[in-house]
Amino acid sequence: MTDEFKTLRKFDAGERREGWLYSLPALEEQGIGKISRLPVSIRIVLESVLRNCDRKKVRRKDVEALAKWNAKSPANEEIPFVVARIVLQDFTGVPLIVDLAAMRSAVQRLGRDPKIIEPLVAVDLVVDHSVQVDFFGSPRALELNLDMEFKRNRERYQFLKWGQQAFKTFQLIPPGIGIVHQVNLEYLAKGVLSQTSEVRGQKSEIFFPDTLVGTDSHTTMINGLGVVGWGVGGIEAEAGMLGQPVYFLTPEVVGVHLTGQLREGVTATDLVLHITQLLRAQKVVGKFVEFYGEGAASLPVPDRATIGNMSPEYGATMGFFPVDRESVNYLRATGRTEEECVAFENYFQAQNMFGMPRKGQIDYSVDIDLDLADVQPSVAGPKRPQDRINLPELGSKFRELLEKPVHDGGYGKKQIDLREKHVVELNGSAPRNGAMFSTDTKEDQGIKPGEARNVLEMVSNRPTPDPGKEIEAESSQVFQHGRTHIGHGSVLIAAITSCTNTSNPSVMIAAGLLAKKAVERGLRVDPGVKTSLAPGSRVVSDYLAKTGLQTYLDQLGFNLVGYGCTTCIGNSGPLHPNIEKTIHKYDLVAASVLSGNRNFEARVHQHIKANFLMSPPLVVAFALAGRVHIDLSRDPLGKDKDGKETFLRDLWPSLSEIQHTMQSALTPETFRKFYRDFAEQNPKWNEIPSSTGDVYQWDEKSDYIHDPPFFENFSMESGHIAEIRGAHALGIFGDTVTTDHISPAGAIKESSPAGKYLMSRGIQSRDFNSYGSRRGNDLVMTRGTFANVRIKNLMVPETEGGVTKYFSPSRTGGSKNGEGEQMSIFDAAMKYAETKTPLVILAGHEYGTGSSRDWAAKGTRLLGVKAVIAASFERIHRSNLLGMGVLPLQFLEGTSAQSLGLDGSEKFSITGLSDSLKPGQQVTLEIEDRSGQQRSVPVKLRIDTPIEIDYYRHGGILPFVLRQLLSK
Ligand code: SF4
Repeated sequence: MTDEFKTLRKFDAGERREGWLYSLPALEEQGIGKISRLPVSIRIVLESVLRNCDRKKVRRKDVEALAKWNAKSPANEEIPFVVARIVLQDFTGVPLIVDLAAMRSAVQRLGRDPKIIEPLVAVDLVVDHSVQVDFFGSPRALELNLDMEFKRNRERYQFLKWGQQAFKTFQLIPPGIGIVHQVNLEYLAKGVLSQTSEVRGQKSEIFFPDTLVGTDSHTTMINGLGVVGWGVGGIEAEAGMLGQPVYFLTPEVVGVHLTGQLREGVTATDLVLHITQLLRAQKVVGKFVEFYGEGAASLPVPDRATIGNMSPEYGATMGFFPVDRESVNYLRATGRTEEECVAFENYFQAQNMFGMPRKGQIDYSVDIDLDLADVQPSVAGPKRPQDRINLPELGSKFRELLEKPVHDGGYGKKQIDLREKHVVELNGSAPRNGAMFSTDTKEDQGIKPGEARNVLEMVSNRPTPDPGKEIEAESSQVFQHGRTHIGHGSVLIAAITSCTNTSNPSVMIAAGLLAKKAVERGLRVDPGVKTSLAPGSRVVSDYLAKTGLQTYLDQLGFNLVGYGCTTCIGNSGPLHPNIEKTIHKYDLVAASVLSGNRNFEARVHQHIKANFLMSPPLVVAFALAGRVHIDLSRDPLGKDKDGKETFLRDLWPSLSEIQHTMQSALTPETFRKFYRDFAEQNPKWNEIPSSTGDVYQWDEKSDYIHDPPFFENFSMESGHIAEIRGAHALGIFGDTVTTDHISPAGAIKESSPAGKYLMSRGIQSRDFNSYGSRRGNDLVMTRGTFANVRIKNLMVPETEGGVTKYFSPSRTGGSKNGEGEQMSIFDAAMKYAETKTPLVILAGHEYGTGSSRDWAAKGTRLLGVKAVIAASFERIHRSNLLGMGVLPLQFLEGTSAQSLGLDGSEKFSITGLSDSLKPGQQVTLEIEDRSGQQRSVPVKLRIDTPIEIDYYRHGGILPFVLRQLLSK
C-alpha cells in the first residue's frame, strides 16, 4: 500500500484485533485543510482519495484539493473516487456482463488472454427486476409469477450463471430473494471493509469505509446507513469494475438540519415526499445532501434509508446520513457479526466521524432547516414525485387536474361527472356497447341514486379461486372475477411495492394493521383493483406472518406476488382485458396507488394515466376506497358489515401499536436465516443449466443474449476528434424527456420495430417479455430506442410514439413536397445509415431524466446519433452518452430548437471539434434550412472533465479501458 501523506495509523478494530487506517485527523494535523469541519460525506470520499493516492490514477493534488474543500465555492475539480464495491440489478447488470463477455471475446480475437477482463472490485448482482405481476390476489400468486419469470428469462439466467463461474469477483443473488437496495441495506453493506496488505514489512489488516456505486439510481438508499454511494450509468460502472475511478466534479453539500419529531399518524413515506418537494424547489441537482441535527439522530435507519432512496427524485447525487449509534444498532439488529459491528463503530470513532453532527459543527454550502413536526400525511402525483399533495386535498386536486388543459399539466377533460361509471364484466366479455350509468340518473345494476360510494362495495366479494383449477391463461385475469364499475379516478392498481418502503418495517406493519382492522369490520376491496404485495426481502414476509398480519392483507387481495421490483419498475402486468378496453374506449383517467418512488406517465402501466405515490397503509386505504377523488380525512372509505360508515381514522394504527408489533417480530436471527445459501433456497435457480469457460459461446439462436457490435473492428488506435458535418435530426423533443421515453423498460408492442423483429424471429407477442428483460440483445434494444408509446417527437407534433420524418440527405425525394416521409425512428435511422448520414437529437430541459439507463445511450449510439443538443441534461444520462461516444452539447441560455424555429428538415454541422478540445468550451452549431440558408449558434460542450475528452477521443469509455488493459 502506498502512504503518500504518511497518514497510516493503528487503531483498535475491536474483538482483540489491531487494524490500520488512513487517518483523516493525521492529515488535518499536517495543516492541509480544516478536515474536521468538512461534511462527513466529503470526508469519506477524501479517505478513498487519500488511500488510493499513487501519483498516477490519483495525484497528491487531488487529495489536497478535496481536503481544502470550500463550502461556499467548491473548486471545479474532478475527483477520482475509487469505490470499494459495485452493486447491480439484472436489468442493468445483464447488459454489463454482456459487455464484459464481449470484451473477453474481443481480447481473445486479438490473441490475448481473455482473463485480463475481470472485475477488480467486488460486484454483487441481485436479480430483482424481472418478476412481473401476472398473478395476484391468490395464495398461489408467488409460485405462479416465479414460474412465469423463470420461463420468460431462462436464457438470461443461463447467461448470468455463466458469468457467475467466469468472473471470480462476481456474486449473484438469484431471483426470489429480494430487491437490490433492500438486500444491500439488510445484508451486503458492512459499514467498513478491510483488506490484508503489507504495512511496514508486516501483513496487516487495513480498514476503510464501505463505499459503492450501483447501476440503479436508488443505490442512494444505502446512504441511510452512512455508506457513501450513488447510481452511475452502466458504462461508468463497467469502467469502475475494470479499475477506473468514478470521476465527478467537487460537489456543493446542502446541509438539512432536522429538528423535532414526526407526529402521530405521519409516516416515513410522508416525510420523504415532503423532503422531495422541499429539495426539488431548492435545486439540489448534482449536489450532495447531508441530513444532520437531533431530528436526524431520532430517525431509525429504515426511515433514513427511505429518505436516501429518493435522492434521484429530489435530484441530489446523495441523501446522506452520518454514522452514529443508530447505524451500529441497525447492523446489529439485522444480524451482522459482532466483529463487523464493533469494527464499524471503532473505525468511525478513530476517524472522528462518529455521531450525528449538531448545528454549527460542520460547514455546509447551504443550510436548510426542517422541523419534522411540520410533516403531514401526503401523497405525490399524478405524474411527478415532487408534486406532493396533502392527503385531504387529493380529491379536489384530482378534479382540478382532470379539467386543466394538457399543456398546463392536466388531462384536458370537459364537464366531467365523476359519478359516471362504466360497467365491466371481469369474467366474461365486456358489456355490449359499453353500458354506462350515472348514479344520479339510473337505477340499473341495482345502484340507487346518490349511492356512488357504495357501488364498489356491492361487487366486493372477491371469490376465492379454485386452487385445483388449471391455470390456462398467462394473465392476471385468472384471479379477477365478478363485475366492476370504473370511471375517471378509479383505483385500478394498488401496489405495496418498492424498496423505498418495503425496507421499512414500520410502514409495512402499519399496512398490515390497517388491513386487519378493515377485515375485522368487514370491508372489502373491489375486484376491479389489481392488488399486490412485493416486498424487497423475505424478512418482510417472515414478520408479517409472525404477527399474523399477512392473513388480513391476503383477505384484501394483497397476497404476496414476488420478491422484486414489480409495479415500481412498471412490471405491474396486464389489467383485465375488459378493463383495458373500457379505459381505452372512454379515454378514462384511471389511477394507480403505489408505495414506489416514480410515477411519470407509462412508468406504472401504459393504460394508467394518474399515478400516486404514498405509504403502504395508504395504498391499502385507497384500494378500499376504490377511487382517488376522495377526502380521506372526511369521507368514509366504505361501510362496515353493519352498514356503518368507516373512516380512515377508524383503521389507522397508532405509533405504539406499530412499535409494539414490530418489537415482537424482528430478530437478528431472522436476517441470518434468510441471507445464506441463496441458491439452495431457490431450487428453480439450481435447475437452470449453465455453460462454463472463460469466453462466452454466443448463441445466434438466442433473442435475449447477443454479442453487441461495440468492439467490432476494434484496434489499438484511438482515432481523432473530428467535426460532425451534414447531420440530420432524428428527433426534436421538449422538456423532461426521460430515459424511459428514450429506452422503455416495459412492454414491447407488436406493431413496434422491436415487436416486428421478434415476430420475424418466430416469437409470439405473449412471449415478447419486456424491453428491460431484453437488454442483453442489442438488436431488440436498438429497435426499442425512442419507441416509448408516450414519447412526443415535435417533428411530428400530431402523433405520439416513436415516429419521425425522414428527409432525403440529397434533398431529392424520400419525401412528398419536401415535407419528409413519416416512419418509425428506427426505420429512419437505418435509411440514414445507408447514406452514412450522421444524426443528431435536439431536446429541451432535463434531457434523460429518470432512472439511470445505459441503453438510452447505447441505443442512441447504435441508431447512428453523433450528438445530442439539449437545453440541459440529467447527470447520469449525460455521462452515459459521453461514455458511448455520443457528444452531449448544451444550448446557451435562451436558445432552444423552438426559439430557432427548427422543424427537423434542416441539415446540421458541429464545428470547432478537434483533438485540442477543452471541457465546457463553446463550439458552433451550423444550421442549413431546406432553402439553403445558413446560420450558426454557439453551443456548450458538455464534456465536463479532462478524462472525458480522452473517453470521447477513444469512442467511449469501453474502448478506452480496453486499450489501457491491452497496453499493459
Ligand atoms: S423497487 Fe423500484 S426503486 Fe427499488 S430497485 Fe426496484 S425499481 Fe428501483
